[in-house]
Amino acid sequence: MSRFLRFLVFVPLLLGGLLLFFVSAVHVAQVTGILSSEHNWKSLIKQVVLPGEDRARFPKVRKAIRPRAVVILDAGHGGRDGGTVAGDSLEKELNMKVVHLVAEQLRKERIRVVFTRQGDATKSLRNRVDIANGYPSAIFVSVHHNASTSSKPEGIETYYTNAKPASAVSGQRRIFDVEQGERFIDHRGELLAREIQAASCELTQAVDRGVKDGGMALTRLVSCPAVLVECGFLSNVRERARLKDKGYRQKLSDGISRGILAFVGKVEGNPYHGIEGPGGVAPGEVSGAGGQLPGNSL
Ligand SMILES: [Zn+2]
Repeated sequence: MSRFLRFLVFVPLLLGGLLLFFVSAVHVAQVTGILSSEHNWKSLIKQVVLPGEDRARFPKVRKAIRPRAVVILDAGHGGRDGGTVAGDSLEKELNMKVVHLVAEQLRKERIRVVFTRQGDATKSLRNRVDIANGYPSAIFVSVHHNASTSSKPEGIETYYTNAKPASAVSGQRRIFDVEQGERFIDHRGELLAREIQAASCELTQAVDRGVKDGGMALTRLVSCPAVLVECGFLSNVRERARLKDKGYRQKLSDGISRGILAFVGKVEGNPYHGIEGPGGVAPGEVSGAGGQLPGNSL
């Protein structure tokens, strides 16, 4: 066989073999679940040839893969620090139960959850702040149960801090690209607190004690939007009985997660939600709501 004839036979054989290999590899990937069923060999070829056009054609696939936001859930106390003790209720345990239910709800909505403590670990406030500040684009929610020297007080209250120290604000300035010395007012902690307070009171029908601007270390030193929810008073016998009830805890956790999701939804619509920028105008109003904010995954 002449070299030319050999060339004529081998090249189509080689190309056919390669095509067969590609198609069967895609099929195996689909069957084993490596590839989403919305992809097939035709769409993959198009993706290689026309990457831009194909990207626009699969918004659902990309959305399903990308997490929406990071939420740091902090179950108050733990380990040697039990928190409030009332009757046979230990605050640290109730906090953890609520946090796990909230996490479950958030994950269903493609929210990535980070815990500040796993199990019954002892964690200092500094530890918790450091963990949270490792995620400057997240939101932070600390869960507690309240107590009073009187047996009367009852209801839910949510804390935030508007005036944070410069050390906590500098990371946020970087994210929003605001120079040192330029006007930057961050109301997001307060807005997050209002969403959580409203949703959890609505679902539980608990007494609404409102949102409060407090100087607690966690809400003050955590740089991202940070709140502390006091789920109810263990010192009130009737409320304690509710807080120990599984059904009530589910409603409470649904309320907290619903509030978080409402806030996340608003930030996704406008990354500058709750931010007052240079010149007293929210940058989002200038650049157009919904504009992309570099580095802010919220
Ligand atoms: Zn506590």
